Amino acid sequence: MTKPPSQATYCSVALPVPLRRLFEYQLPILENNIAQSFIGRRVEVKFGQQLLIGLVLSVQKTATYDPSKIKPVETIIDSQPVLPLELLSLCQWAARYYHHPVGETISTALPQALRHGKPGINTRPAWRLSTEGKGLPETALARAPKQQQALQYLLKHSNLSAEAAAQQNISNATLQAMSKKGLIEKTELVLETLNSGLSGEQLLSQESPALTAEQQVALDQIRYHQFNTYLLEGATGSGKTEVYLQMVARVLQAGKQALILIPEIGLTPQTVMRVRQRFNCEVAELHSNVSEAKRAQNWLAARDGCAHIIIGTRLASLSPMRDLGLIIIDEEHDLSFKQQDGLRYSARDLSIYRASKLNIPVVLGSATPSLESLHNAIHGRYQHLRLTKRAGVAKPPSIHLVDLRQKALTAGLCQDAISAIANTLSNGHQVMIFINRRGYAPTLLCHNCGWHAGCRNCDAQLTLHRSPPHLHCHHCGRQQAINRHCPECNNHQLTPKGLGTEQTEQWLQAQFPQVQVIRVDRDSTQRKQALSEYLEVVAKGEPCILIGTQMLAKGHHLPKIALVVVVDCDQGLLSADFRGPERMGQLITQVAGRAGREEIAGTVLIQSHTPDHPLLELLLSKGYHLFARELLKERQISKLPPITYMAMFRAESKRAEIAREFLSMVGKTFVDIAPPSPSVRYLGPIPSRMEKVNERYRYQFQLMCDSRAELQQVLDKALERIDQHALSKRARWSVDVDALEV
Ligand code: ADP
Ligand code: ZN
Ligand code: ZN
Repeated sequence: MTKPPSQATYCSVALPVPLRRLFEYQLPILENNIAQSFIGRRVEVKFGQQLLIGLVLSVQKTATYDPSKIKPVETIIDSQPVLPLELLSLCQWAARYYHHPVGETISTALPQALRHGKPGINTRPAWRLSTEGKGLPETALARAPKQQQALQYLLKHSNLSAEAAAQQNISNATLQAMSKKGLIEKTELVLETLNSGLSGEQLLSQESPALTAEQQVALDQIRYHQFNTYLLEGATGSGKTEVYLQMVARVLQAGKQALILIPEIGLTPQTVMRVRQRFNCEVAELHSNVSEAKRAQNWLAARDGCAHIIIGTRLASLSPMRDLGLIIIDEEHDLSFKQQDGLRYSARDLSIYRASKLNIPVVLGSATPSLESLHNAIHGRYQHLRLTKRAGVAKPPSIHLVDLRQKALTAGLCQDAISAIANTLSNGHQVMIFINRRGYAPTLLCHNCGWHAGCRNCDAQLTLHRSPPHLHCHHCGRQQAINRHCPECNNHQLTPKGLGTEQTEQWLQAQFPQVQVIRVDRDSTQRKQALSEYLEVVAKGEPCILIGTQMLAKGHHLPKIALVVVVDCDQGLLSADFRGPERMGQLITQVAGRAGREEIAGTVLIQSHTPDHPLLELLLSKGYHLFARELLKERQISKLPPITYMAMFRAESKRAEIAREFLSMVGKTFVDIAPPSPSVRYLGPIPSRMEKVNERYRYQFQLMCDSRAELQQVLDKALERIDQHALSKRARWSVDVDALEV
């Protein structure tokens, strides 16, 4: 083996592998100052038999172990850092805080194209004249007017981008034809960075309305040049979005960028639309409806300052920004901001950390703030801004609780609800019906022996679907034909049991054949554009019935909805998860907020079998805010988050004992490091709420500490040992800091 030269330089590389460490490689010989600029650049290295792409995190003169064993870097991919240092340190913080391997964390932040080694510079394909093309006079190509137009354009400008071609109405076919003749050729444009401030008139493409007094008070509280977390708690329709837009305007005028995070994109396309309508500047979207290639472009545009506003889902919180001035998190309570696998990060919490490092404001907006945020606002860690009245002409809806006990139900609806639906439709208005279960019925039951259709792979029942007819496990995805007779007793009387969206849809359509019944759930919206098409139909304003799951609860603005019916609100109250009541309160408030968004007065009917439940009464009589404060008191008494801090270990295995043994070892490790005390508590191993999913047995172990610092300390020490233990290689396991699902 040849000895590396004495002035060799070494680098620590973060590789996308599930190990909590960095890997050392040897760099080509470099001058000191050049070595520094290696940080943040991608390199290709040998890792065992594979070639992997990693990111350089540090460069050092001396190796930390035997230099003769350190392999050289195979290829240096970038000539400049692909990740700015700010994002790099954010990723490193996230890796530490969520106890996730740093290489995988960085990989999460990179768009797929860059993970695969595509160039890290922001270019757009374009056409330019070939040498032959350059020789042509302006009058050439007279017989093909479009080609002539392209030629004339290219004789004036150095290149023609796809955007410019679209503006000039020059089709791709025209350009292909010219390329075939050898007149033009493909090129790549490096995009210019935009970094000057935008002046007032340039910036707005639409007048902003005069703010309401409450909006103005909220806006006046914001300081733009220092870190602060603002909780903007505003009833649905109270004008939060308008406040965001005016803040964004301020930041853009100062020449900085704004980052707006929204829940799942399919559910909230209106926010994107409003941003685009208001501003005359580059808006880049980062979410799952954007193609991979476009996502990489937008990511680079954010990094290089070519985009002024970045709007996207959770993942956008990890986009590099050239000069970020403001972060907004709309519907901050939404669960989609927490990733449930891989890097289990909260885009909200990460953004707050990021804003603190950048010394900029971050705004959390919601009609139904999470208890976490509310707790922080009450204790003065966040500045609390409130909007209590609806903006514009809308009045708050009137909410009625309907006692279902002893009432006959048809397709889940009682007579009061059915009459209200009929009245609303005959008044020419629209109805929204909320059922938290998709499919036709939660299961198929044998009336004779009590057998019900269960999933072979999971501890779950198979949901009956009618369109198309099949049985479907919503946990592992298993699908099978509907049984003709009972496998236990051979009886033919198999009946659907319980209620799902399809059943109510079918019945309502038969009952109200003159109007359109539109169902919105995961099944009916599988096609990418389906949801926006449905919402367009509703937006036309004709009387119709919109029926669906919690997908409907998100921020849709549907002005013609006069009646909202919540078919069953009891689930959340009876839930085993301590967050059940919080979620129920959020859901009911959000769904109710869909009624009466403009001139039409809104009514909300909430059907319940437990109408005298004190929490439900509190929610409906006093509203979400006081309801949430009451829940916080309960969390205080039972020492649960957000009063305390929690991390969850989850393990699964085809053999139950492997997962259990692993978690017992985890438990012993913790007890050894920090014996249970009033301020450090453990629970487990216990079976997960659904023990078997997809043929795997699932267990969990939970730790709870009174302080965040203590939780992190104990986790650090324990994981070091757990990672070394042989059992940790046998079970599939994860650790989830600030877990939202228990
Ligand atoms: P939220 O984001 O709190 O649900 P929006 O910002 O969407 O509320 O506002 C609800 C409705 O009120 C929208 O139709 C919006 O255009 C309108 N609106 C908001 N602020 C004002 C204002 N200051 N003057 C008039 N209309 C407003
Ligand atoms: Zn039977
Ligand atoms: Zn299943």
